[in-house]
Amino acid sequence: MNTQKLTTSVIIIGAGPAGAGTSFFLSKYQVPHIVIEKETFPRDKVCGDACSGKTALVINRADAGWLSEILADADSFTPSWGITFVAPNGKTLDIPFTTTRTKETKAPGFTAPRLTFDNFLFKKMASPYCTIFQNAAVTNMTNSANEVTVTMLHKEAQYEITAPVIIGADGDKSIVRKKYLNEHTAPKTSAVGLRGYYKGVTGMNSDNFIELHFLPEMLPGYLWIFPLPGGMANVGVGILSERVREKKINLREQMLYAIKTNPQIAPRFANATLEGKIQGWGLPLGMTRQPLSGNNFMLTGDAACLIDPFSGEGIGNALYSGMLAAAAIKEAAEKNDYSGAFLKKAYDDVVYKRLGDELKLSTTLQRLCKYPWLFNFVVNKAAKSPSLRNTISGMFTDMDLRGQLSKPSFYFKILVNK
Ligand SMILES: Cc1cc2nc3c(=O)[nH]c(=O)nc-3n(C[C@H](O)[C@H](O)[C@H](O)COP(=O)(O)OP(=O)(O)OC[C@H]3O[C@@H](n4cnc5c(N)ncnc54)[C@H](O)[C@@H]3O)c2cc1C
Repeated sequence: MNTQKLTTSVIIIGAGPAGAGTSFFLSKYQVPHIVIEKETFPRDKVCGDACSGKTALVINRADAGWLSEILADADSFTPSWGITFVAPNGKTLDIPFTTTRTKETKAPGFTAPRLTFDNFLFKKMASPYCTIFQNAAVTNMTNSANEVTVTMLHKEAQYEITAPVIIGADGDKSIVRKKYLNEHTAPKTSAVGLRGYYKGVTGMNSDNFIELHFLPEMLPGYLWIFPLPGGMANVGVGILSERVREKKINLREQMLYAIKTNPQIAPRFANATLEGKIQGWGLPLGMTRQPLSGNNFMLTGDAACLIDPFSGEGIGNALYSGMLAAAAIKEAAEKNDYSGAFLKKAYDDVVYKRLGDELKLSTTLQRLCKYPWLFNFVVNKAAKSPSLRNTISGMFTDMDLRGQLSKPSFYFKILVNK
């Protein structure tokens, strides 16, 4: 077979949110790059399909018009204004994402099937600096003299692509992570999730709040119901892998049992139909600091284990880490230094400086969720106290405020305040 040789500044494996985020900002910095994707877009990805503030933030930084495009397309995207927590005792707490909403305020979050949203991002990657190979198979990766060479099959042709740096943006089963980090890390998939698309679920919030149901049998995981365009809902469950193993849980059965029998959930599904299959995938949670780079390579998104351990959100952190990876590459190119020591400072340290506290706090919250009585207590109190609800609402944007949740003094204060 004839081999075509290409050289570029950056090779990105994977064109999901992490790959797209990296590509947007490399194009902004005028850095040529090649993206290799094994699927053909539009492609699906098992997910809850909910996008929060960090997704909006990165999209806005990439192009100020894109978020308006998203929010104007009600057939494809559903704006969301808040979150409903259902405590293990069944008590419900509605928390808006913002307490200062006016007519001009843009929705802080939105939902969209990943088939639609990822295709939106994919199309936005088009730029004179970005070359994309879809439906391509990576067959080899080698390193030599400060360069990486990827061998790839595409449309019956073989390519050898060489660059000073490779980005692993290839998700939970990352081949880049496996090649460069495997022996240095603990098993990474720390939670598993299932998702089904349902039509005709009733009782959705009029402002499209996303719903997290902390059912006692799933703690510290939860069942979610997220509204989608066209009267659809994304319904799923997420739970720690160790709990599934320990308790020998059949997650699919547990999800269907809750939908059929839970007194708050079942009536809402009386006339609902499942469209397609219930599908599962892993969630590599950001519970401990891990290496994100080394000589001539960097990892982003799920390949870097950056999913929020409490909420299960990973799209925002995938886009965000892509943005930071591009900035680090710009610096590395200026200094012509793609060494592990340089990339650690320029990338790993920056990622953990920006996201580390949030991930640590979410790890603590996830552990606290093991205690149903604590969850019930906070929700019971907040249901009666507008000021506590405002405080919790502020926690979506204010990290210092969110930090209160891990302090015993927070619970003491709500215990003594009527
Ligand atoms: C059940 C479930 C529910 C979730 N719910 C939410 C939610 O509601 N909100 C949220 O923010 N996050 C959620 N997440 C997490 C979210 O889905 C991920 O964090 C996010 O998709 C990570 O983006 P990524 O670009 O890193 O990886 P991915 O989205 O997985 O993209 C990786 C890309 O790389 C490609 N690829 C893989 N291997 C190769 C290869 N060898 N060669 C070339 N290309 C390759 C894939 O085809 C894919 O296009 C959920 C996850 C699960 C499993």
